[in-house]
Amino acid sequence: MEVLFIVFLFIFGLIFGSFFNVVGLRVPKEEPFANDRSRCPACSKELAWYELIPVISFMLQGGKCRSCKSKISLLYPTVELFTGILFVLCYMQLGFQLELLTALLFISMLMIIFVSDIRYMLIPNKILLFFLPAFIILRIIIPLEPWWSSVAGALAGSGIIFVIILLSRGGMGAGDMKLFFLLGIVLGTKKVLLAFFFACLFGAVIGIILMLLKIIRRKQPVPFGPYIVAAAVITYFYGEQIIHWYFLKF
Ligand SMILES: [Zn+2]
Repeated sequence: MEVLFIVFLFIFGLIFGSFFNVVGLRVPKEEPFANDRSRCPACSKELAWYELIPVISFMLQGGKCRSCKSKISLLYPTVELFTGILFVLCYMQLGFQLELLTALLFISMLMIIFVSDIRYMLIPNKILLFFLPAFIILRIIIPLEPWWSSVAGALAGSGIIFVIILLSRGGMGAGDMKLFFLLGIVLGTKKVLLAFFFACLFGAVIGIILMLLKIIRRKQPVPFGPYIVAAAVITYFYGEQIIHWYFLKF
């Protein structure tokens, strides 16, 4: 029964991941994402149901459009797969409790932002505004310990990015700042600061690797969102253990 539920949740995640791709790609362009058939971005051919099966269609078609043979972005199966895996992780970590809803919504928002930021270097306001009331209500029903950690976290998280924007003139954007406000509500003060630390660490390490491999140039603007997303996921699930481990060790 348990296994069946996990398999179900994984498939559920794959399907939602496919939806998050569409939302993340269409919302910044002000395109409707509801009643509109999916098309190949290269040849505009309408896709049949068997070309829209998460991950599987991509693999069967060898990552190419069936009509025009142009390459399909790896972003699609990656987001689908990660959403599936992370939905399962939510349940494995939390079991059946109301916080599971927070976790699933949190992952959903982060996956959409990941898509938008990697493709357009943009964190859409509409997405943040959609999730903000849900997170506020959930943190009132399931408060952190202490309850004001959500308030302090939102202010600390967005405050740090605000200072960085002032000092660096262009390193980070207003989207990053607003995202950290939401992260603070969900994660609380300690964890949002940890998430900030990890995001910078990932950004620096991966940035240096990409520069050494000459994939990006020095000073080339790169989206910071994907690092924030990775940091937020790790901190949400393992922040407590990491903080505990750190204070035990040092
Ligand atoms: Zn095509």
